[in-house]
Formats: sequence, structure tokens, C-alpha cells
Amino acid sequence: MNSNKNCVAAKVWLITGCSSGFGRALAEAVLKQGDYLLATAREPEQLQALIETYPETAKPVRLDVTSSQDIQAAVDTAIATFGRIDVLVNNAGHGLIAALEEVSDVEIHQFFETNFFGALRLMCTVLPVMRQQGNGHIVNMSSTAGLVGFGGSSLYCGSKFALEGTSEALAKEVESFGIKVTLIEPGAFRTDFNGRSLAAAEQSIDAYAPVSCASLQWFKEMDGQQPGDPAKAAQAIIQAVESPHPPMRLALGSDAMSLIQKKLEWVKTDLDAWQQVTVSTDYTDSNN
Ligand code: NAP
Repeated sequence: MNSNKNCVAAKVWLITGCSSGFGRALAEAVLKQGDYLLATAREPEQLQALIETYPETAKPVRLDVTSSQDIQAAVDTAIATFGRIDVLVNNAGHGLIAALEEVSDVEIHQFFETNFFGALRLMCTVLPVMRQQGNGHIVNMSSTAGLVGFGGSSLYCGSKFALEGTSEALAKEVESFGIKVTLIEPGAFRTDFNGRSLAAAEQSIDAYAPVSCASLQWFKEMDGQQPGDPAKAAQAIIQAVESPHPPMRLALGSDAMSLIQKKLEWVKTDLDAWQQVTVSTDYTDSNN
């Protein structure tokens, strides 16, 4: 039992991808404040230091989000160990820099398996638990690229836009059960993302070099220079989860702020410029 918080106030978290980056920073932050954690990673040995520091409140579990068996086993272990799951954080993910025409069918499916279907599977497995509890919070790690399309990142943006739409609709489906949903939209943060978690497509097309090669080079050069601090992101996520009125979306980083503001202006500019065409398509006897 932890000593920093009493048992009632302490939350039980399940976080995917606790080996590095945001997942690791959030895992450390929630444990430090006295919460309980089902710490998950594809290679649980990566969690050794975390478990040694917090042996009574952290439970390590192997979890590859592409495996339904791993997901069910992880959720069962969380319930058997802690009796509930208060916060699910779908954090695991990776990047793929390629123009859409460069990616193969196999790459498309493998990429979505982790970045989108993994999160879907976890939500579908945890939702019955949260519904029975009458409360819970699902935190989905989207990206600024979940709202803004970047050339050379069409598949990555597609996976995060999919997560955004699903999460926004889900929030309306589960609100009456006391379940909250929050999307996290970071800009560039100093994690392993631009390094080991970022791949290029196996086949490249010369015509797309100005988009995909340039984009990959930009990400690699920025590795280690990103403005965002994952430890500060972890505190911001905790603040959102502990708020009585958590946001649907939490953008993180000054780069995220300006990119999303520009996107909103762009949407409004198009909507305003085409307003007459937009409203001209109703039946004339429509009451709307
Ligand atoms: P990271 O340090 O590379 O962490 C990625 C994590 O995802 C690792 O723990 C990795 O585990 C895990 N992972 C990958 N595939 C997995 C799978 N199939 N099953 C379980 N875990 C898997 O990068 P990060 O920046 O913290 O990335 C975390 C999330 O933040 C991702 O969803 C990413 O899209 C998002 N994000 C990052 C940034 C950024 O600038 N860093 C910005 C916006 C959004 P292994 O150790 O086993 O590979």
C-alpha cells in the first residue's frame, strides 16, 4: 500500500508503451504521486527499474497492443491485482514517414494495427470494466497530426485522425456511464519517437523525394532538439485527468498551439468562403 495517498484517492492506471517516452514519463509521474499502475510494455524487462522503485504499487505486464490475448490478460491482471481500472492511457504508437503512394498494403495494415486498432481493442476490453464501475477515464495519445495533415505523414495522420473521430464519438456514447475520454495532441517532444520509433516505407518513389525524404531528414535532424519535455507533458496529462472538467482535447507544446490555431483558421476560411454553396444543397422544403 502506498503512503503518499490514501487508498480511496489513489487511481489505478493502465498505460501502454511504458518502456520510453511519454509512456515512461507518465508511468513515473503517477507512481511518484502515489497512484497504482499496471505498467505494460512489449518487453517487460524494460520496466525493471520502475518496478524496483515502486514494488508495491507497480505491476509489470507484457503487452503488445497488436495482440488481443495480451490485452485481455493485461486487463484481467489489472482487475486481479488492483480491483479496478480508473484510467486507461492508449499511448503505444510509432511513426512512418512516406507519401501514401509509397506504402504497401502490408505496411498500411501493420501500421494501423498498432496506432489505431491497438487502441480500439484496449478500449473495447476496458469499457465493460469502467461501465460496471460507473466511472473511468480513457486518455488517447493522438498528436497535432491528429488535427493537422502533414505531407509525408499521410498514414500517421490517418491513424491519429481515426483515433480523434472515434474518441470524440465515444465520449458521447459513454458520458452517461460516468466515463470520460480525452485526446492528447502533442507537438514535437523529446522521446524516442524521432529515433527508433520512426521508420520509412520499404519502397520509395523518386517523385516523392521532396516530400518523404525531406520530411524524414527533418525528423531525424530534430531528434534530441524537440521543444517538448515529456516529464512536463506527464504533469499536464495528470492535471487533465484530475480536473472535474477534463478537456476533450489537450494540445501540448507551443508548436502544437500555433499549428492547431492555423488549422482552425483554415477550416473557418473555407467554411465561410463556401458557405453559400454549402447551404445550397438542401431540399427547398427542408425545415433546417
Ligand atoms: P517512444 O519513446 O518511441 O515510445 C513509443 C512507445 O510505444 C514505446 O514504449 C514502444 O515500445 C511502444 N510501442 C510501439 N509499438 C507497440 C506495440 N505494438 N505494442 C505495445 N507498445 C508498442 O515515442 P513517444 O513519443 O513516447 O510515443 C508515444 C506516443 O506519442 C505515440 O502514440 C506517438 O504517436 C505519440 N506522439 C509522439 C510525439 C512526439 O513528438 N514524441 C508527438 C505526438 C504524438 P517498445 O519499446 O517495445 O518499442
